[in-house]
Amino acid sequence: MEHELPQLPYALDALEPFISQKTLEFHYGKHHQAYVNNLNNLIKDTPFKDSDLVDIIMNANGGIFNNAAQIFNHSFYFSAFKPRGGGRPQNKLNEAIVETFGSFENFKAEFSKSGATLFGSGWVWLVTDSSNKLSIVQTSNAGNPLTDNLMPIMTLDVWEHAYYLDTQNARPKYIENFWEVINWEVIEFRFESFA
Ligand code: MN
Repeated sequence: MEHELPQLPYALDALEPFISQKTLEFHYGKHHQAYVNNLNNLIKDTPFKDSDLVDIIMNANGGIFNNAAQIFNHSFYFSAFKPRGGGRPQNKLNEAIVETFGSFENFKAEFSKSGATLFGSGWVWLVTDSSNKLSIVQTSNAGNPLTDNLMPIMTLDVWEHAYYLDTQNARPKYIENFWEVINWEVIEFRFESFA
């Protein structure tokens, strides 16, 4: 099957000033698109040619895994933003965050610290396990928590290409901006779908 770049649910300039149009033009328009193009080329004439992304993530390795996981990770990341986002989660997700981390503020601080301290390229995730317990995990490079049987709820891309045009080397400033565009409704929906 032909994998496609998903449409963004907002305009390229809609997340400014927190994530610039220039960053989205490169991060979504060039990097995310390149993973899609690479995967389509790599899976031709392989057992993965008709597999969906999750099948590939669970069963492939090397370049096929890397490009499939990067498509999933970026689609998951970009689809949880909105203009004038931010604030805090409501309902069951809020209750679970308070139960696990003590408060939303503590969760936000732990998640941000996890992003700031991840060495090199990778992703920070809020996940649930098979008993529906929340935790924060880091993955390196293209890693995805599905391969550890964890369900992703929320993710932060800490590859330099996610922020270098906007905040240069200041990854913590990028992480502060990230919280201002989060679409909590999307993240609550994911959590309630798995709960
Ligand atoms: Mn990225």
